[in-house]
Amino acid sequence: MYSDRALVIGAGFAGLLAARVLSESYGDVVLVERDEIAAETEHRAGIPQAHHPHTLLARGAEVLEALFPLFGAELAAAGAVRTDLGSDVLTRLPAGWAPRDPAGLAVPSVTRVTIERIIRRRVLKLPNVSLVDGVTIDGLLHDRGTVTGVHGRRGGRSFTDYADLVVDASGRTTKLVSWLAELGVHCPAPMIVNSHLSCTSRLYHVNRDLKLDWKLAREATHAPSTRRGGSVSSVDDELWFVTLFGAGGDVPPTDEDGFLAHAASLECQDIAEIIKTATPASEIHRADNLRSRWNRYHRVPNWPRGLLALGDAVVSLNPLYGHGMTLAALNCADLRDLLKDHDLAKEPLVFQRAVARTAQLPWTSATTADLGWSQKKLPRGTRFRQWYTRRLVEAIPGNPQVHRAFLRVSQMLDHPNTLYRPAVLWRITGRIMRRTPGRVLLSGRRPRATER
Ligand SMILES: Cc1cc2nc3c(=O)[nH]c(=O)nc-3n(C[C@H](O)[C@H](O)[C@H](O)COP(=O)(O)OP(=O)(O)OC[C@H]3O[C@@H](n4cnc5c(N)ncnc54)[C@H](O)[C@@H]3O)c2cc1C
Repeated sequence: MYSDRALVIGAGFAGLLAARVLSESYGDVVLVERDEIAAETEHRAGIPQAHHPHTLLARGAEVLEALFPLFGAELAAAGAVRTDLGSDVLTRLPAGWAPRDPAGLAVPSVTRVTIERIIRRRVLKLPNVSLVDGVTIDGLLHDRGTVTGVHGRRGGRSFTDYADLVVDASGRTTKLVSWLAELGVHCPAPMIVNSHLSCTSRLYHVNRDLKLDWKLAREATHAPSTRRGGSVSSVDDELWFVTLFGAGGDVPPTDEDGFLAHAASLECQDIAEIIKTATPASEIHRADNLRSRWNRYHRVPNWPRGLLALGDAVVSLNPLYGHGMTLAALNCADLRDLLKDHDLAKEPLVFQRAVARTAQLPWTSATTADLGWSQKKLPRGTRFRQWYTRRLVEAIPGNPQVHRAFLRVSQMLDHPNTLYRPAVLWRITGRIMRRTPGRVLLSGRRPRATER
């Protein structure tokens, strides 16, 4: 044990995982949360994104299993639907349908509410972790360059608490930059990339007699031409999540008719068919302004001792690519590793640099795609990556090997460099040289799952 007390601001996804990790090094770990929550709470104001599907990437599932043994089994018992990303998924791409060969890569399809509830239950059972809820943190307490605690409000009363280490896990709406400014610590302007993405989502009960040979049907937006997208996925046993995307300012509507019309305008008609035949199980919810933002705390030379930041509070990404929870989990894996050799309360920048290193790949992949909506002249490296990714996506229909390589990188299991290996490269270049337009070849045929 380095010292006694750690305090985590925010009991969301990253905060809960951070508390789990800190419980190994600190005698007393306190989660301070604005919402009033009990272990079994479902929807709450602080997590509006829980009204939208949350894909847990294969890499994130691995990290969660290491932190919470038998986590996957617990998710399955709660109704998570095991989905093979090849054979169980119907993916519509601009150039046609992705192959349906088994990818050997299965992820649990589950709501955000269920994931968080299972993690919260496990974390709050730890003997040295406690939750103080209904408290809004408004700033940091400090003493000569060291953060010593937090201050805030609980109901109409003021709240203060002290700790050897304070961790900001307050998510996308973090106020940390202004709290640091009050301490005389100034951060570089955040990097922001905005594809002006919005999404609307609704849960449904699907008629059990409907014989579907897939568990997830989807069509993504693709800059600069495909502004609309959507997906429908089987989640939590009996429920199906429909979500519709609009990029570049094409906002999917929240009224019944508009919702269906947006889905019907997609090539993947399966989404509209589900909406027409299924029974709604929730309201239609919209999320706007889903930009990517990176607070570069690792570049702040006078970053105070006693303070760390992780999760969306540092890097929040366009959720279209499903990186957010996995990145937060990877932050906590780094935290666990670094705590073995470092007193991070004294060396916080060691951690913030690790957060930055881990964020680099998902940031580059999400923003490279999103910069395709930008009218600005982009650096040559970004333009090359955009060009190559477009060629890669065009090559996926009819190319199971390219599809598998793409899936493994999208699931953060393999480094993006694997997409430049000869086996992938020659399939892409071969296709370019033959100048085969995939749309003409493949767009009409909707694939069935191949034998498992
Ligand atoms: C529409 C949408 C869809 C998404 N889909 C996916 C997906 O498919 N896959 C994926 O991996 N990720 C997805 N994400 C991202 C994912 O939700 C986040 O990456 C993840 O929740 C980050 O966890 P966090 O703990 O950093 O923040 P959060 O989970 O948002 O938690 C922040 C917590 O801090 C609390 N809080 C905030 N301010 C204060 C304060 N001042 N005092 C006390 N408490 C405070 C909040 O109440 C909340 O409990 C999506 C996001 C959105 C918006």
